[in-house]
Amino acid sequence: MLKIEDLQVAYGGVQAVQGISLEVQPGGITALLGANGAGKSSTLLSIVGSVKPRSGRILFEGRDITGQTPDVLVRKGIALIPEGGRVFARQSVEQNLHLGGYTVTDEAQYRQRLEQVYQLFPRLAERRAQIAGTLSGGERQMLAIGRAMMSGPRLLLVDEPSLGLSPLLVETVFDTLASLNKSGTSILLVEQNMAEALELAEQAYVMQSGKIALQGSAKEISASDQVRKAYLGL
Ligand code: ATP
Repeated sequence: MLKIEDLQVAYGGVQAVQGISLEVQPGGITALLGANGAGKSSTLLSIVGSVKPRSGRILFEGRDITGQTPDVLVRKGIALIPEGGRVFARQSVEQNLHLGGYTVTDEAQYRQRLEQVYQLFPRLAERRAQIAGTLSGGERQMLAIGRAMMSGPRLLLVDEPSLGLSPLLVETVFDTLASLNKSGTSILLVEQNMAEALELAEQAYVMQSGKIALQGSAKEISASDQVRKAYLGL
């Protein structure tokens, strides 16, 4: 589904990503884990075309998408749920969803997706006219997920969805990702919350200082001594 080959990202002299390779299988959930500053967001941003890689290739369904612009990638079926549930703060809930679905030309399909989002998050339906900047952190995260769903992505990239959320809301967000995956969406999940992410994902990669330090099935990674000690506090 998604294949990254030897990706390097640099900001001036800072080598944020130093030649990583990873894969997301069709219909799968892959977790990209690691501490602050490991290079996870930079990897996601280069997949969606917001950051230009220094070198390496990104393939989506076998086609080279390296360096494509974000709007082209949305049309191809890739959507990003940005870190911290970033939404358009001055727009209403419904306008945010509308912007997420701007590539959808079929009115019936647009309505259907909107209904699907409101069914999944009744809270958003109640607040459809509210200005997004006044939503709570959890509501904003729901909106960010809803907005990404509007484009009907086949690959969903999710940046730290649990950041700043209560344990109950983290559960809701992870359940939502699981149900989107069941309905056929492949997911690349970036998380610092390793325990939750490893429960959801099948495959996992652990980044450290811009490199992949460890990779394997989520089961193998959870069982690794290195991970248990360094990240899971066990
Ligand atoms: P976090 O979980 O804290 O978001 P991360 O694993 O997503 O961390 P990145 O945000 O990709 O890590 O950052 C990797 C490195 O690149 C860090 O050292 C960071 O300071 C640096 N970096 C990120 N964005 C920029 C930028 N726009 N300009 C300069 N340096 C940057």
